[in-house]
Amino acid sequence: RWYEERRASSSSTNFLMNTFVSQTVYGPHREEAVAAVVERLRQFESVYSLYKDSSQVEAINRNAGVAPVEVDAEVFTLIARAKALSEESGGAFDITVAPLSLLWDITGKNPRVPAQGEIDQALALVDYRDILLDEERGTVMLRRPGQKLDLGAIAKGYACAVAGQVYRQQGVESAVLSIGGNVYTVGHQPGGKPFDIGVSAPVKDRTELLGTLHADGMVISTSGAYERYFEVDGRRYHHIFDPATGWPAQSDLLSVTVISQDGALADAMSTALFVEGLDGIKENLDREEFSLLAVDATGAVYLSDNIRDDFVLTDENYHLADA
Ligand code: ADP
Ligand code: MG
Ligand code: MG
Repeated sequence: RWYEERRASSSSTNFLMNTFVSQTVYGPHREEAVAAVVERLRQFESVYSLYKDSSQVEAINRNAGVAPVEVDAEVFTLIARAKALSEESGGAFDITVAPLSLLWDITGKNPRVPAQGEIDQALALVDYRDILLDEERGTVMLRRPGQKLDLGAIAKGYACAVAGQVYRQQGVESAVLSIGGNVYTVGHQPGGKPFDIGVSAPVKDRTELLGTLHADGMVISTSGAYERYFEVDGRRYHHIFDPATGWPAQSDLLSVTVISQDGALADAMSTALFVEGLDGIKENLDREEFSLLAVDATGAVYLSDNIRDDFVLTDENYHLADA
């Protein structure tokens, strides 16, 4: 009985944070845990959404150039973190990218290639140094009117860690969660084996996997140009922008996967390194805080040494780059 109870699982898929959230939770507390995570992510969404009028991020955007906005401690911390990561990445990752992402609307209903003049105007508003943080008062303000925050490149990975807290509170020892492709595992499979996490091949609608990864207790975030894009005249425009140009990043990479216990870091770095390209990957393969799996335009797969034994390449269209 006890053994069966440990192996039993509950699964759910919900549309939250503008994306699909799926969970499989094992063990005695599974049903309460699934419901508690859905509830927590709903609350998260209402605070962080770029589109909900009631969200705190929306309030910061509405008050750009006007007034500081008092936010929850958690929101303050995430924005401060995102600003620091923007700085660290030299602006390749920049959460003030919203004027550009809204203008191009790649992931929205009316994607289009804007005129260069429009791009220049939007680009002039993108600058993480204009995020004014007052720690004592717990306020955030954007310096200039028209500036806007877009947490789209960090919120889903961060939300994985938020869900992780809920699982811990619920006593869950084994679970897999995906928030829009940001995958988080708690513990390992009930039988004791690690979870096999599928890493997608960087091709749209491809059901095959690039390979499988073992990364218990980690958040696994992937950024790439292959999934969210639109095409005009045979040219592809994807949703990750180069804040230096205002255009979709002309990366020499197909995808970047970052593996870390720190979900915000995994998500932000996957976006930053996609923009930075292969040179950035080579410089960051040996970092302590995260591991990397990146695919370049020739199909070579770059891996951090410390995950070499945890990854199995299964798609013969790709090959491992020399160590
Ligand atoms: P996904 O949303 O597919 O997980 P990312 O984590 O890379 O992919 O986030 C991309 C989203 O982040 C875009 O849809 C946009 O809202 C925003 N964004 C685009 N370019 C940047 C950038 N250079 N820095 C920060 N955020 C960005
Ligand atoms: Mg990201
Ligand atoms: Mg992401």
